[in-house]
Amino acid sequence: MPPISEILKKQRQFFATNHTKDISFRIASLRKLEHWIQGHYEDIFAALKQDLNKPPFEAYATEIAIVLTELKLMLKKVRRWSNPKCVASNLINFPSSAKIYPEPYGVALIMSPWNYPFQLCVAPIVAAVAAGNCAVVKPSEYSPATSALIGKMCKELFDDEHIAVVEGGVSESQALLNEYYDLIFFTGSTTVGKIVMQAAAKHLTPVVLELGGKSPCIVDETASIKLAAKRIVWGKLVNAGQTCVAPDFLLVHESVKKMLIEEMKIAIQDMYGEKPLDNQDFPKIINIQHFNRLMKLIRDEKIVMGGDSNPITLQIEPTLLDVVSWDTPIMQEEIFGPILPILSFSNFEDLIKMLTSLPKPLAAYLFTSDKNNERFFLRNLSFGGGCINDTIMHLSVSKLPFGGVGESGMGTYHGKAGFDAFSHYKSILKKSTLIDVPMRYPPYSHKGLKWLMKMQK
Ligand code: NAD
Repeated sequence: MPPISEILKKQRQFFATNHTKDISFRIASLRKLEHWIQGHYEDIFAALKQDLNKPPFEAYATEIAIVLTELKLMLKKVRRWSNPKCVASNLINFPSSAKIYPEPYGVALIMSPWNYPFQLCVAPIVAAVAAGNCAVVKPSEYSPATSALIGKMCKELFDDEHIAVVEGGVSESQALLNEYYDLIFFTGSTTVGKIVMQAAAKHLTPVVLELGGKSPCIVDETASIKLAAKRIVWGKLVNAGQTCVAPDFLLVHESVKKMLIEEMKIAIQDMYGEKPLDNQDFPKIINIQHFNRLMKLIRDEKIVMGGDSNPITLQIEPTLLDVVSWDTPIMQEEIFGPILPILSFSNFEDLIKMLTSLPKPLAAYLFTSDKNNERFFLRNLSFGGGCINDTIMHLSVSKLPFGGVGESGMGTYHGKAGFDAFSHYKSILKKSTLIDVPMRYPPYSHKGLKWLMKMQK
């Protein structure tokens, strides 16, 4: 791999040829990518199995299908979305036309994490290419099999001057961040997000930060408890809880707490069997550091289910914790593992008010059949996005922009939002040269001022 500065120089030269702005070039690039993915399912499954012990169903549903959906949508819409849009001009500028021209930013940096290592790296590539950019891509060092596969895929499909993959760890990331880009699209932790934003600030580079946080899941006394239990357990345990939008902790009305815990125990057994550690389809924790971190978090807690682990396979049982205090260590950091702390509440409105004092999470979930509670939750709590009566599934809807707010990030993508994230919208007013209203020029007159004020009404 040539030095980063060399890759960037070539990408800038290539971008300047306007080749990436050509719609047929974008479509051809997206088609190649789609065909490659469709022809390499087994390779993707194998890489995700190696990195995270993901079963093929999860690998397809949560990684491949999301990318293919994005590709399909971009291929269908890229021509329309790239066209300039006419908007109404105004009387002051008569006669004129006003248009918005979508244009690619130029050369983007895409940095991605390890938890959905294929999807979270390739979906931004799809959006970058559709919007007509060049990109340098940095997959995560913690998912080496998938990162190597993405490197191989991009080498086969794209010239480095269009899309280049730089593999490596923190030092490579830091070296990448020392360079100038037209956009940085970062997915990862809030801590590294701040480092990225600082680096971007040096050049006033726009950033999209897709970060994490502690996403609450609330179950009130009117919820359908059996269904809530199934959907919460599923959302928590998919990818062994290593999901940015996983319900991080559970807040249940005290009157239904016992029932919900019992239903969740049943749901866990139904999904993963009596011995989840023997279940071939249960994903592993990414590395020993995270495994040890998670085991330490449950050490002093009251375990109501699970708690066992296997340090050889790096698997931790689905674990339910009965937590009484917000001050406990597990309530201080994003869990990112198959562990669900359960707290109870007695007053819904007080609970929501208390949650507003915490950092704004990436997701929040409410299980209820009470319209007033639903309204109060949506009106008072700020968070990236979420579901009523489900978990995680909001990100499967391409028409819902996906992203955080506050500490959980800024900017959105998925579907049109992805195209927008990688586009600058250039506003152009085109004036006629036939008429030139003299009133706007000095020396100003009282009559001119009165006319201007009248126009404003
Ligand atoms: P991370 O922030 O540690 O790493 C992300 C990327 O940053 C990697 O490519 C890594 O090489 C690079 N990096 C790490 N340390 C760096 C440093 N000091 N300087 C520069 N670059 C550095 O995140 P992770 O552990 O890979 O992923 C887990 C986090 O990502 C969780 O917080 C999770 O919530 C979040 N996440 C968010 C989304 C989302 O879409 N919002 C999706 C998945 C994960």
